[in-house]
Amino acid sequence: MQFEFPEDQEFFSHLLANGDTNQLVVAYSDLFDFRHPAIKRWEFDKTSKNVLRDLVEKYNGECQLRLHPECSPSHGLEPDHIIPLSSNILNKELRKLTGTAGAKVLSQSFGSNHPRNLTLACRKCNGLKKHKILSGVAIHRLID
Ligand SMILES: [Zn+2]
Repeated sequence: MQFEFPEDQEFFSHLLANGDTNQLVVAYSDLFDFRHPAIKRWEFDKTSKNVLRDLVEKYNGECQLRLHPECSPSHGLEPDHIIPLSSNILNKELRKLTGTAGAKVLSQSFGSNHPRNLTLACRKCNGLKKHKILSGVAIHRLID
């Protein structure tokens, strides 16, 4: 499991494994896939219908995120990557990068399409979460 920067590995160790890097690798490797996000998205799109059907069955059609005050399956349900496929959050928060001349801060590839990294979200909650990385408590509630 090769993070781009050591501080990223440290961030996820603290988020998921009480700061224990070994534990992060042993217990949470399947949440991560550092290949280009377009490849992961392409692979995901091929199976997303089946993934959604399986998640709806597993979670009885209920949104697992429960982030939005109007959270409801009536808005429509979608699979959500718990660790986002890509995010620029660490570039912003750990490296204090800022966008220049209308360009956004560069994103990094993080999350995998592994079933453990997928949960069921209503459109409202998924829209609110976007590419954010949830707190450790929230993530531990979502993954098995
Ligand atoms: Zn919801």
